Amino acid sequence: MATRLYTHPIFLEHITPPGHPERPDRLRAIERVLDDEAFAALDRVEAPQGDEATILYAHPADFVARVRAAIPDEGLARIDADTTASPKSWQAVITAIGAANAAVDDVFAGRADNVFVAARPPGHHAEKNTAMGFCFFNTAAIAARYAQKKHGAERVAVVDWDVHHGNGTQDIFWDDPSVLYCSTHQMPLYPGTGAKNETGAGNIVNAPLAPQTGSEVFRDAFLSRVLPALDNFAPDLIIVSAGFDAHHRDPLAEINLTEDDFDWATGQLMQRAARHSGNRLVSVLEGGYDLHGLAFSVAAHVGRLMKG
Ligand SMILES: [Zn+2]
Repeated sequence: MATRLYTHPIFLEHITPPGHPERPDRLRAIERVLDDEAFAALDRVEAPQGDEATILYAHPADFVARVRAAIPDEGLARIDADTTASPKSWQAVITAIGAANAAVDDVFAGRADNVFVAARPPGHHAEKNTAMGFCFFNTAAIAARYAQKKHGAERVAVVDWDVHHGNGTQDIFWDDPSVLYCSTHQMPLYPGTGAKNETGAGNIVNAPLAPQTGSEVFRDAFLSRVLPALDNFAPDLIIVSAGFDAHHRDPLAEINLTEDDFDWATGQLMQRAARHSGNRLVSVLEGGYDLHGLAFSVAAHVGRLMKG
């Protein structure tokens, strides 16, 4: 079976202010690196239009209406200190959600073993009632609930190796033991959450990393905290909140990972997916702000997914 890739030109039309790190060039850099013939076997599919009703799986209707009302007809509108909407942002956000949900459909229908969703804006900072940190709605969380509602998944694991803690995903699943949330992230760093003692209903596993942490400590955190939690939980689906801003070149953080670490971590999660989840793994792009570090880390991640 193949590895599927979802993307869509609308993701380039979510515009942020000049100098903003979360910019359309991120996806252009990913597109360029995946153009290489090494990725010829990727099953490339244009992301479908999302079903807006699925946003309600993770966010209340009044919050969704508030975000929608804030989308400008022209120019840019500020959603929070770091989060900006442009006229096409709503379409981009809905398509990102559509892509992640379609990826869930694919792995449950056996159309793909695993899928990478190259979308923006990212989602893991979006809490139930708060858009923040470049994120509007929580794409990975919606996809997890979608797997439960549409495909009868009983247990879904979200593994988040973005360098920032996924406060939004933690918030959404805080009291929901049917979803395991595991995160490695730099601490202290935005958004300030993600301490080890934040454990929710026993379903939250945070592995904070000190600034200047490199491969060895990251891999140790994965081996000692994330992977045992996954084995214990035995998920029906693994969703990866795949941010690549823990790369050593990234300007927003001070963790020193390389492409090899993302290759390795991907392989570890694939082993768990093989053991527990019928190989089902859906990876959704989150952060990653150095274009070179991002592109080559995505190449390592997707290259490993394709090795099956
Ligand atoms: Zn991040």
